[in-house]
Amino acid sequence: MATTRALVVTRHGGPEVLAVEERDVAEPGPGEALVEVAAGGVNFIDVYQREGVYPTEPPYVAGFEAAGTVRAVGEGAAVAVGDRVAWSMTSGLHAELVLADSTRLLPVPDDVDLETACAATLQGMTAHALVTDCVRVQEGTVAVVHAAAGGVGQLLTQMITNRGGTVIATAGSDTKLEIARSRGASEVIDYGQSEDLAADIAAAARRLGADAGVDVVYDGVGKATFDASLASLRRRGTLVLFGAASGQVPPFDLQRLNSGGSLFVTRPSLAHYIEDRDELLMRGREVFEDISAGRLDIAIGGRHPFAEAAEAYRALEARATTGKLILVP
Ligand code: NDP
Repeated sequence: MATTRALVVTRHGGPEVLAVEERDVAEPGPGEALVEVAAGGVNFIDVYQREGVYPTEPPYVAGFEAAGTVRAVGEGAAVAVGDRVAWSMTSGLHAELVLADSTRLLPVPDDVDLETACAATLQGMTAHALVTDCVRVQEGTVAVVHAAAGGVGQLLTQMITNRGGTVIATAGSDTKLEIARSRGASEVIDYGQSEDLAADIAAAARRLGADAGVDVVYDGVGKATFDASLASLRRRGTLVLFGAASGQVPPFDLQRLNSGGSLFVTRPSLAHYIEDRDELLMRGREVFEDISAGRLDIAIGGRHPFAEAAEAYRALEARATTGKLILVP
């Protein structure tokens, strides 16, 4: 049996509980592939898991996103030795060598490097699911994207505008607003400076001709933005609450959906939009095609070796990042 260096969550807590340790790694069994990881993605889901919001008993290997090269395969594997692959939404991926279910691996096209592939996999497929199957964004859709300079936010903004939609972006600094504009946002709002976020979004929507409110709000910030998000929708508009970077939204009265104008709220998880292998492969393929064709630019905000992973997570949690942080084994 081989061993591998891995980034381990030693107990629930902050980034200080991360440690690099040696772990055993078995030979691939039927349908499995052994992947040498080139890049691991830093995601909020790692934080929720480390803090115990998504229960996993420590110690465990961190990480829900990676890209690398297949080094060995078991019988009947869906990939071959030498294939470049990326995958997400299975845990334990922050290691040099990872034993994977080969049916969950996405083939990475030759013209997409492994860091980019890694950076685009979890957040890219999330943004793809949110604009295609969660709400179908089309020509004329007016959308709010909160935290638009973040990993998912930058991808959402590009995917919405690529489909003919218009984006009102929020973010927490001038630099971040500038990034949101460069991704295609028509209106930008510094929600840290806003005294009445719903009113500021309404004014931006009016400037775009959406006097009755926006069609959809993409909200990965959660607690801090939820009320303004709901208040910004037109009749029968949809709030896509896809995360909780500022904290979980407290329970709320469903009657507010009625008085707000027959509103919809959905709380999607990428996992439920890639359960089916054909759907997984379709999303991965479309995201990578967008990258290859130059329609989707992936912003890598920084690279950290495993030994400095705590620093990367501290930055993410302190709102000090733009785009995607990568861990390099
Ligand atoms: P980001 O790069 O967007 O980082 C989070 C951003 O949220 C920060 O940069 C910050 O931007 C903003 N923010 C606002 N308030 C806070 C706060 N109190 N603490 C920290 N950040 C805050 O992260 P990701 O792109 O990785 O993820 C964005 C959201 O998407 C997360 O909620 C994540 O859980 C969710 N997600 C959901 C998935 C799903 O399947 N449902 C899959 C992937 C991600 P600013 O400074 O501009 O306010």
